[in-house]
Amino acid sequence: MFPYEEFKARADAVRAHIATACQKARRDPATVELLAVTKTHPAAAADYAARYGLRAVGENRVQEAIAKQPLCAEKIQWELIGHLQSNKARLAAAHFDRVQSVDSAKLAALLDRAAGELGKTLGVLLQINAGHDPAKFGAEPEDAPRLLETALACPHLRVDGLMTIAPLSSDPAVAVRTFDNLRALRDRLAPEFGTPLRELSMGMSGDLETAILAGSTQVRVGTALFGTREPPPANV
Ligand SMILES: *Cc1c(COP(=O)(O)O)cnc(C)c1O
Repeated sequence: MFPYEEFKARADAVRAHIATACQKARRDPATVELLAVTKTHPAAAADYAARYGLRAVGENRVQEAIAKQPLCAEKIQWELIGHLQSNKARLAAAHFDRVQSVDSAKLAALLDRAAGELGKTLGVLLQINAGHDPAKFGAEPEDAPRLLETALACPHLRVDGLMTIAPLSSDPAVAVRTFDNLRALRDRLAPEFGTPLRELSMGMSGDLETAILAGSTQVRVGTALFGTREPPPANV
């Protein structure tokens, strides 16, 4: 792992990038959280994020996060941002503070039951395939109302908002459209269901400015903080 000072310089640069985007969007930079995505990096990456003052780290795989957690010296929250299989719902509820990848009513129900048994309230985001990308997980936007209705009826889940991943594309308009779709969906569902859905988790290293212009409240950044991942991740 590279030295902390190098991480601090990278994190400062990402923060500055966020601030510039917020200025363009006429938004307060305090309304955009930086989530450090530590997948494939050692446990020290999460300690760096904590030391820098970040609230949380994002991990893609349940087992990878569970392996790192006991190795971390610093306290930080853990958010699951990768696809969650039903048979790992219980483990995820136990080891994460929030699950951003809730994309089916079945998964919501399994997480709710597990959280209830653990005596905790689990934060969740509903992952929406706002870019209609056949390669991405996430509920289709037209299924979002039904999924939200189910999640809101789960007593042990706290529905904070929505999450999306833009399709990989050389055309920047694709990300703009995806993020605008998620924002519009939130703006439609929040009053309809009488819940703020405040969190819009959207934007990564390559498209965080676009996401902030569209209203992102949390950018999930890996590469710009920790460098490129070797080997590259499987499907996200
Ligand atoms: C890996 C990952 C990120 C971070 O991507 P970078 O391009 O490395 O910033 C963000 N969100 C999800 C869901 C991811 O899987």
